[in-house]
Amino acid sequence: MKYINTKNIKEKASFKQAVVQGLARNKGLFMPEMIPVLDASFFSQMLDLSDIEIASKVLYPFAKESIEWSDFQSILKKTLVFPIPLVPVAPDVYALELYHGPTKAFKDLGARFMATCLSHFTDTKQKVTVLVATSGDTGSAVAHGFYQVDGVEVAILYPKGKVSPYQEHQMTSLQGNIRAIEVDGTFDDCQTLVKEAFADEFLNKEMKLSSANSINVARLLPQMLFYFFAWKQIRKLTENPIVISVPSGNFGNLTAGIIARKMGLPIKRFIAANNANDTFHLYLKSGQYLPKSSCSTYSNAMDVGAPSNFERLMHLFDGDHNAIQNKIHSYSIDDKQTLGEIREVFQRNNYTLDPHGAVGKICLDKDLTKHETGIFFETAHPQKFGNIVRMAIPDLPDNKVDLSACKKTSIGNNYCEFFDLLVP
Ligand SMILES: *Cc1c(COP(=O)(O)O)cnc(C)c1O
Repeated sequence: MKYINTKNIKEKASFKQAVVQGLARNKGLFMPEMIPVLDASFFSQMLDLSDIEIASKVLYPFAKESIEWSDFQSILKKTLVFPIPLVPVAPDVYALELYHGPTKAFKDLGARFMATCLSHFTDTKQKVTVLVATSGDTGSAVAHGFYQVDGVEVAILYPKGKVSPYQEHQMTSLQGNIRAIEVDGTFDDCQTLVKEAFADEFLNKEMKLSSANSINVARLLPQMLFYFFAWKQIRKLTENPIVISVPSGNFGNLTAGIIARKMGLPIKRFIAANNANDTFHLYLKSGQYLPKSSCSTYSNAMDVGAPSNFERLMHLFDGDHNAIQNKIHSYSIDDKQTLGEIREVFQRNNYTLDPHGAVGKICLDKDLTKHETGIFFETAHPQKFGNIVRMAIPDLPDNKVDLSACKKTSIGNNYCEFFDLLVP
C-alpha cells in the first residue's frame, strides 16, 4: 500500500515515509492510495476474534510494505493495553468509552500506535526529537504515548495558564524523555514556535525533527479500531442497523470511521457532533466550506474552526456533497444544552457524561429513528473535565492533582529561547 498526497496524487510515499514525515509536500495530507475491502467471512467471524486479531486484519494492509508481520504484532500488543467497553446508557443508546487509556481521552490509542511505529522506524544512532504544540489533550496523550520509547525525545509546548491542572499534571509529571515547556503566550504562539523550528535549516542539520500532530496517518488509522470494536460488541446485543455519533473537532476520529465503513464495516450512518464551532455542520447544510476562527466552549477539545481532516473527507467522498449528506448527518450544540444533558442523563440514567460525550449524545438522540441502535463516543473521562461536569453535577468528587513533583521549563514567546532549549 502506497500513500498519496491529497495536494498531488502523483506523489507517492511508503507507510514509513508518511509516518516519519508527518505532513506531505505543499501542506498536503497523506492518504492511503486505496482502501482495501475485507471479506464478508471476516465480519461473520469477528465475534470470535480477539482485539489483536481484529486489529491485525484491519490495520496490517496499511503498513505491510514497511513493517514485518511479527514486528507489527508487537506494535499492536504495546498499543492495545486498555479496554474499550460499550456501556448501555438508555434504551437503544450505548456509550463507547474511549477514555480508559493513561490520559483518559481517546487520543491515547493513536498516540501510542504512532509512538511505537516511529520508534520501530528510528535507528537508535540518531534520536528523533518530536515537537508538539498543544492546547491540552494532544500534549498529554503524546507525552504518555512516547514516554520511555527508545530513540525518541519529546518537547511539548503549551500556553501558560491555559491548560487545566489535570492536563498540566499529565504533561509535566513524567519527565525522562518528555520535556514540558510552558510558553508565555497562546496556543497559536506555541504552534508558531514549532513551525519556526521545522523551518530552521540549522536546527534540522543538528537534529532529526518530527511532529506528532493529528494529521499523521499513524494517529489517524488506528482510530478505525474504535468502530470495529464497537460493532463487535453491539452485534452481540442487537441486529438493528447501527448509527454512530462522533464528537468532532479536527475530524480525525470521524474520518477513521468513514475509512472503516469503506473497508466494509456495516455502519448505517455517522453523526458529526459539533459544539458551537459549526464549520462542518454549515458545510453539510449549504455545500460551502467556510473555515473560521474557533470560539471557546465547555467541550474545548472540539473548539476547531478549520478542521484539518476536512480535506481527507473530501478525498474519501470525491467531493460529492450529496454522498456526504447521505452518510453523515450533523448538529451544532451549545454549552447550555451540553450542561443540561449532563445533568439529565445523570439523574435519569445514572450515567456521568463528559462535555464532549454529552454533545455526541444530544446529536444521537436528535437523529436516531425507530428500529435503529445508536452509539455515541465518550471521548474523555468526566473527571478530566470535572470543573465543567460539576456545574451540572455538584456532588461529583473533585480529584485534585498534586503538581509539586512536576517539572516544566518556562520560556517567553520567543524563538531564541526555544532554540536554546533544543540546542544547549
Ligand atoms: C480531540 C478530541 C475530540 C475531537 O476529535 P477529532 O478527531 O479532532 O475530531 C473530541 N473529544 C475529545 C475529548 C478530544 O480530546
